[in-house]
Amino acid sequence: MADYVIGESTKTADIPLPADGFSAAQLFSTGEGLTYNDFIILPGYIDFVADDVELVSPLTRKIMLKVPLVSSPMDTVTESDMAIAMALSGGIGIIHHNCSPEYQASEVHKVKKYKHGFIRDPVVFSPNHTVRDVLNVKAEHGFCGVPITENGKIGGKLVGIVTSRDIDFLEESANQQNVKLETVMTKLENLITAKSGVTLQEANSILEKSKKGKLPIVNEKGELVSLMARTDLKKNRSYPNASKDENKQLLVGAAIGTKNTDKERLQLLAAAGVDVVVLDSSQGNSIFQIEMIKYIKYEYPQLQVIAGNVVTTAQAKNLIEAGADGLRVGMGSGSICITQEVMAVGRPQATAVYKVAEYARMFGVPVIADGGIQSVGHIIKALSLGASTVMMGSLLAGTSEAPGEYFFSDGVRLKKYRGMGSLEAMNRKDAKGSAMDRYFHNEMDKMKVAQGVSGSIVDKGSILKFLPYLQCGIKHGCQDIGARSVSVLKSLMYSGELKFERRSHSAQLEGNVHSLFSYEKRLY
Ligand code: IMP
Repeated sequence: MADYVIGESTKTADIPLPADGFSAAQLFSTGEGLTYNDFIILPGYIDFVADDVELVSPLTRKIMLKVPLVSSPMDTVTESDMAIAMALSGGIGIIHHNCSPEYQASEVHKVKKYKHGFIRDPVVFSPNHTVRDVLNVKAEHGFCGVPITENGKIGGKLVGIVTSRDIDFLEESANQQNVKLETVMTKLENLITAKSGVTLQEANSILEKSKKGKLPIVNEKGELVSLMARTDLKKNRSYPNASKDENKQLLVGAAIGTKNTDKERLQLLAAAGVDVVVLDSSQGNSIFQIEMIKYIKYEYPQLQVIAGNVVTTAQAKNLIEAGADGLRVGMGSGSICITQEVMAVGRPQATAVYKVAEYARMFGVPVIADGGIQSVGHIIKALSLGASTVMMGSLLAGTSEAPGEYFFSDGVRLKKYRGMGSLEAMNRKDAKGSAMDRYFHNEMDKMKVAQGVSGSIVDKGSILKFLPYLQCGIKHGCQDIGARSVSVLKSLMYSGELKFERRSHSAQLEGNVHSLFSYEKRLY
């Protein structure tokens, strides 16, 4: 065993610390545009645990988020399911507008009316469905307990419920499986229901006392509004970070364009309770956007407006002057984006975020770093360059909350992910409708020039598991840097204490997995 001699400690204070690393101002002073991969942050001093890192950060002048994460308004990323999951986790989702105004407003409405623990879109059958239908549901979803309404839909008059007990002895023969549910269901008069408006706690105790598995929630007309399941109650986590308004409803955003028809769309969105609108344009510095910001600020003073996208201070200036409450930064950095290639304009994302954030902070306008986020490390870099929040598309696509069905290709489970400027998205015509003008095209255009591509993303499971991983990763990154909060991280950067360094191509290779024959990359 070695003997350790406790001696007099070396007085490092006697010798000034040599310069090591570069401030953000120095890093971005070369005139060359940088991406997140082009630089690295030097570690700092740790005197706290990662769990203590505070992630609170502003989305706009008036909206604070407990977690600085935003889901992108893309038709393969954010509809109500994603927005609910984002808000429950402390971030926010922005509902896309590649759909009819009515569809978009109803998605916003679903988020605002969401009640944790209540299933809003349960499987519902009519009395004419058969035992076989229930067995199929059981096989597919693994649950049994299906409410029966007159029309077989949520919103229809509740007439009964079918549970395992009702069909246990009817599973055997084909004949028995053809039996109609009206003959086997537990009828309304024997059902325990709760009235809409019931709280989670009240519904919980009704379920406990009644020892039932499912509790249908009905309105004053006896129509089915939602369903509560005991199994869900047991596994329901609480979401202490959830983003909520003063009425305790989840926060939600929605994207719109800058045409006159978008004013009608906005009216529906505002009526549905949207908290923030995002003016969705790949090049936001336009007369159209400036006029739209002024219009919204005048007509809907309670609404927060995020303008963009911008990548230069000159672009930002016009939108801030018009009254923007937040700016979305990024042009050409998105994973599905071919803007820089086709239009020859844009800016490498790290430089864009740093330059715009540094300018916008003088006016108290928070910046969203939008696009190009491939990993939790990129999120930390974006925040360390002055972004208040980070907007993601590809990182969240492929989760079960993203719109669209899974499909298999070569044995891999995938979901579609496409740029909003892809021909496929711009030509969308389906039940959800189409209405987007992010790329300044309109119905009369003879030819559309694509600025995005369409592809697929591997199944990532639920966002409710993925977001805690991202949050935990951000906290650990801040800890390594020595920043107890996102706001400390930014002040360290602006004071020049936070040090950065450029990474050569070989440094980037070194910083990634290398020299292995094979490996498995599991993130959480
Ligand atoms: P990602 O997170 O790298 O996948 O980038 C998502 C971001 O790319 C979005 O939030 C938009 O700002 C941007 N974007 C979406 N669709 C397109 C497109 O078709 N072309 C260019 N950029 C796009």
